[in-house]
Amino acid sequence: MATRTRRDYYEILGVSRTANAEEIKRAYRQAAVRFHPDRNPDDPEAEERFKEASEAYAVLSDPEKRAAYDRFGHQAVGDHPFQGVDPANFMDFADILGDLFGFGDLFGTRGRRSTRSRSRAQRGRDLAYTLTVTLEEAASGVERTIRVPRRETCASCGGTGVPPGSVPEVCPVCGGRGQVGYRRGFLTIAQTCPQCNGQGRVVRTPCSDCGGRGLVEREATLKVTVPAGVDNGVRLRFSGEGEGGLRGGRPGDLYVQVAVEDHDLFEREGNDLHLELPISVFQAMLGTTVRVPSIGGGQREVRIPAGSQPGDTIRIRGEGMPELKSGHRGDLVVHLRVVVPDRLTPEQRRLVEETARAIGEHHERQRGSFFERLRRRLGNEG
Ligand SMILES: [Zn+2]
Ligand SMILES: [Zn+2]
Repeated sequence: MATRTRRDYYEILGVSRTANAEEIKRAYRQAAVRFHPDRNPDDPEAEERFKEASEAYAVLSDPEKRAAYDRFGHQAVGDHPFQGVDPANFMDFADILGDLFGFGDLFGTRGRRSTRSRSRAQRGRDLAYTLTVTLEEAASGVERTIRVPRRETCASCGGTGVPPGSVPEVCPVCGGRGQVGYRRGFLTIAQTCPQCNGQGRVVRTPCSDCGGRGLVEREATLKVTVPAGVDNGVRLRFSGEGEGGLRGGRPGDLYVQVAVEDHDLFEREGNDLHLELPISVFQAMLGTTVRVPSIGGGQREVRIPAGSQPGDTIRIRGEGMPELKSGHRGDLVVHLRVVVPDRLTPEQRRLVEETARAIGEHHERQRGSFFERLRRRLGNEG
Protein backbone atom coordinates (compact mmCIF):
# COMPACT_ATOMS: atom_id res chain seq x y z
CA MET A 1 0.00 0.00 0.00
CA ALA A 2 1.41 3.36 -1.06
CA THR A 3 1.88 5.70 1.83
CA ARG A 4 2.37 8.86 -0.18
CA THR A 5 0.08 11.64 0.96
CA ARG A 6 -2.13 12.72 -1.85
CA ARG A 7 -2.85 16.35 -2.32
CA ASP A 8 -6.05 17.69 -3.75
CA TYR A 9 -5.97 17.67 -7.56
CA TYR A 10 -7.37 21.18 -7.86
CA GLU A 11 -4.75 22.43 -5.42
CA ILE A 12 -1.98 20.70 -7.36
CA LEU A 13 -2.96 22.44 -10.58
CA GLY A 14 -3.80 25.67 -8.74
CA VAL A 15 -7.28 25.94 -10.22
CA SER A 16 -10.67 26.43 -8.60
CA ARG A 17 -13.16 23.57 -8.30
CA THR A 18 -15.26 25.22 -10.97
CA ALA A 19 -12.41 25.57 -13.48
CA ASN A 20 -13.38 24.63 -17.02
CA ALA A 21 -11.49 22.21 -19.31
CA GLU A 22 -9.48 24.97 -20.94
CA GLU A 23 -8.31 26.38 -17.60
CA ILE A 24 -7.32 22.92 -16.43
CA LYS A 25 -5.38 22.27 -19.60
CA ARG A 26 -3.60 25.61 -19.33
CA ALA A 27 -2.72 24.96 -15.69
CA TYR A 28 -1.31 21.54 -16.53
CA ARG A 29 0.67 23.00 -19.38
CA GLN A 30 2.26 25.52 -16.99
CA ALA A 31 3.08 22.83 -14.44
CA ALA A 32 4.49 20.58 -17.17
CA VAL A 33 6.77 23.35 -18.42
CA ARG A 34 7.98 24.08 -14.93
CA PHE A 35 8.49 20.61 -13.54
CA HIS A 36 9.22 18.42 -16.56
CA PRO A 37 12.13 16.07 -15.73
CA ASP A 38 13.88 16.97 -18.98
CA ARG A 39 14.22 20.49 -17.63
CA ASN A 40 14.93 19.46 -14.06
CA PRO A 41 17.38 16.58 -14.29
CA ASP A 42 18.10 14.74 -11.01
CA ASP A 43 15.53 16.74 -9.10
CA PRO A 44 13.26 14.28 -7.28
CA GLU A 45 11.14 17.14 -5.98
CA ALA A 46 10.37 18.41 -9.50
CA GLU A 47 9.75 14.88 -10.70
CA GLU A 48 7.25 14.36 -7.90
CA ARG A 49 5.48 17.63 -8.74
CA PHE A 50 5.34 16.71 -12.41
CA LYS A 51 3.95 13.29 -11.56
CA GLU A 52 1.32 14.87 -9.34
CA ALA A 53 0.32 17.37 -12.00
CA SER A 54 0.05 14.68 -14.67
CA GLU A 55 -2.05 12.54 -12.39
CA ALA A 56 -4.29 15.48 -11.53
CA TYR A 57 -4.68 16.30 -15.20
CA ALA A 58 -5.45 12.69 -16.12
CA VAL A 59 -8.37 12.80 -13.71
CA LEU A 60 -9.62 16.36 -14.05
CA SER A 61 -9.51 16.34 -17.86
CA ASP A 62 -11.87 13.36 -17.95
CA PRO A 63 -15.43 14.53 -17.14
CA GLU A 64 -16.50 11.17 -15.68
CA LYS A 65 -13.44 10.75 -13.51
CA ARG A 66 -13.65 14.36 -12.44
CA ALA A 67 -17.27 13.96 -11.37
CA ALA A 68 -16.36 10.83 -9.41
CA TYR A 69 -13.39 12.58 -7.84
CA ASP A 70 -15.54 15.57 -6.88
CA ARG A 71 -17.91 13.26 -5.05
CA PHE A 72 -15.61 10.64 -3.54
CA GLY A 73 -12.13 12.13 -3.60
CA HIS A 74 -9.03 10.02 -4.24
CA GLN A 75 -10.90 6.84 -3.40
CA ALA A 76 -12.83 7.25 -6.61
CA VAL A 77 -9.75 7.00 -8.81
CA GLY A 78 -7.77 4.50 -6.80
CA ASP A 79 -4.02 4.20 -6.72
CA HIS A 80 -3.60 4.08 -10.48
CA PRO A 81 -5.37 7.08 -11.92
CA PHE A 82 -3.80 6.54 -15.34
CA GLN A 83 -5.47 3.19 -15.71
CA GLY A 84 -8.33 3.18 -18.15
CA VAL A 85 -7.69 6.73 -19.18
CA ASP A 86 -9.42 7.43 -22.41
CA PRO A 87 -6.91 7.35 -25.31
CA ALA A 88 -8.19 10.78 -26.35
CA ASN A 89 -6.75 12.14 -23.10
CA PHE A 90 -3.46 10.40 -23.72
CA MET A 91 -3.41 12.25 -26.98
CA ASP A 92 -3.84 15.43 -25.01
CA PHE A 93 -0.66 14.58 -23.12
CA ALA A 94 1.08 13.89 -26.37
CA ASP A 95 -0.16 17.18 -27.79
CA ILE A 96 0.85 19.19 -24.79
CA LEU A 97 4.24 17.59 -24.41
CA GLY A 98 4.76 17.62 -28.17
CA ASP A 99 4.03 21.34 -28.24
CA LEU A 100 6.25 22.00 -25.27
CA PHE A 101 9.23 19.91 -26.14
CA GLY A 102 9.02 19.66 -29.88
CA PHE A 103 8.25 15.94 -29.99
CA GLY A 104 5.99 16.73 -32.90
CA ASP A 105 4.07 13.66 -33.93
CA LEU A 106 6.52 11.36 -32.23
CA PHE A 107 3.73 9.21 -30.92
CA GLY A 108 1.97 9.02 -34.26
CA THR A 109 -1.32 9.83 -32.63
CA ARG A 110 -2.52 12.85 -34.55
CA GLY A 111 -4.97 12.10 -37.28
CA ARG A 112 -5.12 8.46 -36.30
CA ARG A 113 -7.96 8.55 -33.83
CA SER A 114 -9.90 6.07 -35.88
CA THR A 115 -8.04 2.81 -36.14
CA ARG A 116 -10.99 1.00 -37.60
CA SER A 117 -10.53 2.52 -41.06
CA ARG A 118 -7.19 0.74 -41.36
CA SER A 119 -8.82 -2.60 -41.79
CA ARG A 120 -11.12 -1.39 -44.55
CA ALA A 121 -10.51 -1.63 -48.28
CA GLN A 122 -7.80 0.72 -49.44
CA ARG A 123 -7.41 2.03 -52.98
CA GLY A 124 -3.95 1.71 -54.52
CA ARG A 125 -1.78 4.75 -55.12
CA ASP A 126 -1.61 6.50 -58.49
CA LEU A 127 1.67 6.19 -60.32
CA ALA A 128 3.39 8.56 -62.72
CA TYR A 129 5.61 7.57 -65.62
CA THR A 130 7.46 9.83 -68.04
CA LEU A 131 7.60 8.67 -71.65
CA THR A 132 10.02 10.46 -73.96
CA VAL A 133 9.27 10.49 -77.69
CA THR A 134 10.98 12.14 -80.64
CA LEU A 135 9.36 15.00 -82.52
CA GLU A 136 8.81 12.65 -85.47
CA GLU A 137 6.99 10.20 -83.19
CA ALA A 138 4.92 13.06 -81.78
CA ALA A 139 3.97 14.03 -85.33
CA SER A 140 2.96 10.57 -86.49
CA GLY A 141 1.84 9.02 -83.21
CA VAL A 142 3.57 5.92 -81.95
CA GLU A 143 2.92 2.72 -80.09
CA ARG A 144 5.39 1.98 -77.33
CA THR A 145 5.82 -0.81 -74.84
CA ILE A 146 6.80 0.43 -71.40
CA ARG A 147 7.89 -1.45 -68.30
CA VAL A 148 6.49 -0.08 -65.09
CA PRO A 149 7.82 -1.34 -61.76
CA ARG A 150 4.90 -1.30 -59.36
CA ARG A 151 3.42 -3.02 -56.34
CA GLU A 152 0.50 -5.18 -57.27
CA THR A 153 -2.18 -6.76 -55.14
CA CYS A 154 -0.91 -10.15 -54.00
CA ALA A 155 -2.78 -12.76 -55.98
CA SER A 156 -2.45 -15.43 -53.26
CA CYS A 157 -4.20 -13.47 -50.52
CA GLY A 158 -6.11 -10.88 -52.53
CA GLY A 159 -4.35 -8.04 -50.77
CA THR A 160 -5.39 -9.05 -47.28
CA GLY A 161 -1.97 -10.28 -46.18
CA VAL A 162 -3.69 -13.37 -44.81
CA PRO A 163 -3.62 -16.77 -46.50
CA PRO A 164 -7.08 -17.86 -47.64
CA GLY A 165 -9.00 -19.63 -44.88
CA SER A 166 -6.98 -18.25 -41.99
CA VAL A 167 -8.64 -15.86 -39.60
CA PRO A 168 -6.88 -12.87 -38.04
CA GLU A 169 -6.63 -13.04 -34.25
CA VAL A 170 -6.96 -10.31 -31.69
CA CYS A 171 -3.55 -8.67 -31.30
CA PRO A 172 -1.91 -10.04 -28.13
CA VAL A 173 0.07 -6.85 -27.59
CA CYS A 174 -2.72 -4.28 -27.54
CA GLY A 175 -5.66 -6.60 -26.91
CA GLY A 176 -7.38 -5.40 -30.07
CA ARG A 177 -7.40 -1.71 -29.16
CA GLY A 178 -4.77 -0.84 -31.76
CA GLN A 179 -2.94 1.32 -29.21
CA VAL A 180 -0.50 0.65 -26.44
CA GLY A 181 0.91 2.72 -23.62
CA TYR A 182 4.25 4.29 -24.34
CA ARG A 183 6.40 5.07 -21.35
CA ARG A 184 8.43 8.21 -21.28
CA GLY A 185 10.01 8.36 -17.88
CA PHE A 186 7.08 7.48 -15.67
CA LEU A 187 4.45 8.99 -17.95
CA THR A 188 2.43 6.68 -20.15
CA ILE A 189 1.38 7.95 -23.54
CA ALA A 190 -0.75 6.17 -26.12
CA GLN A 191 0.98 4.96 -29.24
CA THR A 192 -0.15 3.04 -32.28
CA CYS A 193 0.45 -0.64 -31.55
CA PRO A 194 3.65 -1.63 -33.35
CA GLN A 195 2.60 -5.27 -33.49
CA CYS A 196 -0.62 -4.85 -35.44
CA ASN A 197 0.05 -1.38 -36.81
CA GLY A 198 -3.11 -0.11 -35.15
CA GLN A 199 -5.38 -2.69 -36.76
CA GLY A 200 -6.04 -4.54 -33.53
CA ARG A 201 -5.70 -7.87 -35.32
CA VAL A 202 -2.75 -9.96 -36.30
CA VAL A 203 -2.18 -13.04 -38.36
CA ARG A 204 -0.01 -15.78 -36.87
CA THR A 205 1.18 -16.95 -40.27
CA PRO A 206 1.00 -14.15 -42.82
CA CYS A 207 0.68 -14.83 -46.53
CA SER A 208 4.03 -16.24 -47.59
CA ASP A 209 3.95 -14.59 -51.03
CA CYS A 210 3.71 -11.02 -49.78
CA GLY A 211 4.91 -11.40 -46.19
CA GLY A 212 1.56 -10.12 -44.96
CA ARG A 213 1.85 -6.75 -46.74
CA GLY A 214 -0.81 -7.60 -49.32
CA LEU A 215 1.31 -6.22 -52.17
CA VAL A 216 4.08 -7.73 -54.25
CA GLU A 217 6.72 -6.05 -56.42
CA ARG A 218 6.15 -6.64 -60.10
CA GLU A 219 7.20 -5.15 -63.37
CA ALA A 220 4.23 -4.56 -65.59
CA THR A 221 4.55 -4.41 -69.37
CA LEU A 222 2.09 -2.02 -70.93
CA LYS A 223 1.38 -1.01 -74.48
CA VAL A 224 0.99 2.76 -74.77
CA THR A 225 -0.54 4.35 -77.82
CA VAL A 226 0.81 7.88 -78.09
CA PRO A 227 -1.58 9.86 -80.29
CA ALA A 228 -0.30 12.04 -83.14
CA GLY A 229 0.10 15.66 -82.10
CA VAL A 230 1.15 15.16 -78.46
CA ASP A 231 3.16 17.90 -76.89
CA ASN A 232 5.16 18.24 -73.68
CA GLY A 233 3.00 17.84 -70.61
CA VAL A 234 0.25 15.75 -72.21
CA ARG A 235 -0.87 13.17 -69.65
CA LEU A 236 -2.35 9.86 -70.67
CA ARG A 237 -4.38 8.14 -67.97
CA PHE A 238 -4.44 4.38 -67.65
CA SER A 239 -7.26 3.52 -65.35
CA GLY A 240 -6.46 0.78 -62.85
CA GLU A 241 -2.81 0.43 -63.91
CA GLY A 242 -1.36 2.06 -60.78
CA GLU A 243 -0.43 0.41 -57.51
CA GLY A 244 -2.63 -2.47 -56.33
CA GLY A 245 -5.33 -1.96 -53.71
CA LEU A 246 -5.50 -3.62 -50.30
CA ARG A 247 -8.27 -5.77 -48.84
CA GLY A 248 -10.44 -5.51 -51.94
CA GLY A 249 -9.65 -1.89 -52.72
CA ARG A 250 -9.43 -0.77 -56.33
CA PRO A 251 -6.00 -0.29 -57.89
CA GLY A 252 -4.78 3.26 -58.53
CA ASP A 253 -4.28 4.81 -61.94
CA LEU A 254 -1.15 5.18 -64.01
CA TYR A 255 -0.43 8.56 -65.57
CA VAL A 256 1.95 8.54 -68.49
CA GLN A 257 3.40 11.99 -68.95
CA VAL A 258 4.72 12.65 -72.43
CA ALA A 259 7.99 14.49 -72.96
CA VAL A 260 8.89 15.43 -76.53
CA GLU A 261 12.62 15.61 -77.31
CA ASP A 262 14.07 18.73 -78.90
CA HIS A 263 14.77 18.35 -82.62
CA ASP A 264 18.05 19.43 -84.19
CA LEU A 265 16.35 21.01 -87.22
CA PHE A 266 12.76 21.84 -86.40
CA GLU A 267 11.50 24.10 -83.68
CA ARG A 268 7.90 23.66 -82.62
CA GLU A 269 5.56 26.51 -81.91
CA GLY A 270 2.06 25.23 -81.27
CA ASN A 271 1.22 23.25 -84.39
CA ASP A 272 3.69 25.11 -86.58
CA LEU A 273 7.24 24.02 -87.21
CA HIS A 274 10.06 26.41 -87.91
CA LEU A 275 13.14 25.57 -89.92
CA GLU A 276 16.17 27.74 -90.59
CA LEU A 277 17.41 27.27 -94.14
CA PRO A 278 20.87 28.52 -95.14
CA ILE A 279 21.06 29.64 -98.80
CA SER A 280 23.90 31.33 -100.62
CA VAL A 281 23.75 34.99 -101.47
CA PHE A 282 23.60 33.96 -105.12
CA GLN A 283 20.60 31.68 -104.52
CA ALA A 284 18.93 34.59 -102.76
CA MET A 285 19.65 36.92 -105.68
CA LEU A 286 18.76 34.54 -108.47
CA GLY A 287 16.07 32.40 -106.88
CA THR A 288 16.17 28.61 -106.87
CA THR A 289 14.41 25.46 -105.74
CA VAL A 290 15.78 23.55 -102.73
CA ARG A 291 14.72 20.47 -100.81
CA VAL A 292 13.93 20.60 -97.12
CA PRO A 293 13.26 17.67 -94.77
CA SER A 294 9.64 16.92 -93.90
CA ILE A 295 8.62 15.95 -90.35
CA GLY A 296 6.51 13.21 -91.88
CA GLY A 297 9.57 11.73 -93.60
CA GLY A 298 11.07 12.41 -97.00
CA GLN A 299 11.67 15.86 -98.42
CA ARG A 300 9.67 18.74 -99.83
CA GLU A 301 10.66 21.14 -102.57
CA VAL A 302 10.70 24.79 -101.68
CA ARG A 303 10.87 27.49 -104.33
CA ILE A 304 13.01 30.45 -103.27
CA PRO A 305 12.01 33.55 -105.24
CA ALA A 306 14.70 35.72 -106.84
CA GLY A 307 15.62 38.69 -104.67
CA SER A 308 14.90 36.96 -101.34
CA GLN A 309 16.19 38.84 -98.30
CA PRO A 310 17.78 37.46 -95.11
CA GLY A 311 15.05 36.55 -92.63
CA ASP A 312 12.37 36.15 -95.31
CA THR A 313 9.99 33.32 -94.50
CA ILE A 314 8.29 30.86 -96.76
CA ARG A 315 5.22 29.13 -95.37
CA ILE A 316 4.41 25.60 -96.50
CA ARG A 317 0.83 24.81 -95.59
CA GLY A 318 0.03 21.55 -93.86
CA GLU A 319 3.66 20.53 -93.24
CA GLY A 320 3.57 21.23 -89.50
CA MET A 321 2.39 19.13 -86.54
CA PRO A 322 -1.08 17.63 -86.44
CA GLU A 323 -3.47 19.02 -83.86
CA LEU A 324 -4.09 16.45 -81.13
CA LYS A 325 -7.88 16.43 -81.43
CA SER A 326 -8.72 17.42 -84.99
CA GLY A 327 -5.63 16.07 -86.75
CA HIS A 328 -5.53 19.36 -88.65
CA ARG A 329 -1.92 20.09 -89.53
CA GLY A 330 -0.07 23.33 -88.89
CA ASP A 331 2.47 24.85 -91.28
CA LEU A 332 6.17 24.59 -91.85
CA VAL A 333 7.74 28.05 -91.77
CA VAL A 334 11.12 28.20 -93.54
CA HIS A 335 13.34 31.06 -92.39
CA LEU A 336 15.94 32.05 -94.97
CA ARG A 337 19.47 32.62 -93.73
CA VAL A 338 21.57 34.17 -96.45
CA VAL A 339 25.16 33.04 -96.30
CA VAL A 340 27.77 35.39 -97.71
CA PRO A 341 31.01 33.70 -98.85
CA ASP A 342 33.75 34.82 -96.51
CA ARG A 343 36.69 33.92 -98.74
CA LEU A 344 37.14 34.54 -102.47
CA THR A 345 39.91 33.56 -104.83
CA PRO A 346 41.36 36.45 -106.85
CA GLU A 347 39.46 35.23 -109.89
CA GLN A 348 36.15 35.03 -107.97
CA ARG A 349 36.72 38.47 -106.53
CA ARG A 350 37.28 39.90 -110.00
CA LEU A 351 34.00 38.37 -111.20
CA VAL A 352 32.02 39.64 -108.23
CA GLU A 353 33.45 43.14 -108.68
CA GLU A 354 32.48 43.01 -112.33
CA THR A 355 28.97 41.93 -111.41
CA ALA A 356 28.75 44.61 -108.76
CA ARG A 357 29.67 47.26 -111.31
CA ALA A 358 27.12 45.85 -113.71
CA ILE A 359 24.29 46.11 -111.16
CA GLY A 360 25.79 49.17 -109.50
CA GLU A 361 23.17 51.57 -110.73
CA HIS A 362 20.34 49.61 -109.19
CA HIS A 363 22.38 49.16 -106.00
CA GLU A 364 23.08 52.92 -105.79
CA ARG A 365 19.41 53.70 -106.34
CA GLN A 366 18.47 51.59 -103.33
CA ARG A 367 21.18 53.23 -101.24
CA GLY A 368 20.01 56.60 -102.50
CA SER A 369 16.46 56.01 -101.39
CA PHE A 370 17.71 54.83 -98.01
CA PHE A 371 19.76 58.01 -97.47
CA GLU A 372 16.85 60.06 -98.75
CA ARG A 373 14.60 58.57 -96.06
CA LEU A 374 17.26 59.03 -93.38
CA ARG A 375 17.70 62.70 -94.34
CA ARG A 376 13.97 63.32 -94.22
CA ARG A 377 13.67 61.72 -90.79
CA LEU A 378 16.55 63.74 -89.31
CA GLY A 379 15.12 66.90 -90.93
CA ASN A 380 11.74 66.33 -89.28
CA GLU A 381 13.31 65.91 -85.89
CA GLY A 382 15.58 68.98 -86.14
ZN1 LIG B 1 -0.29 -12.23 -50.01
ZN1 LIG C 1 -1.91 -4.52 -31.53
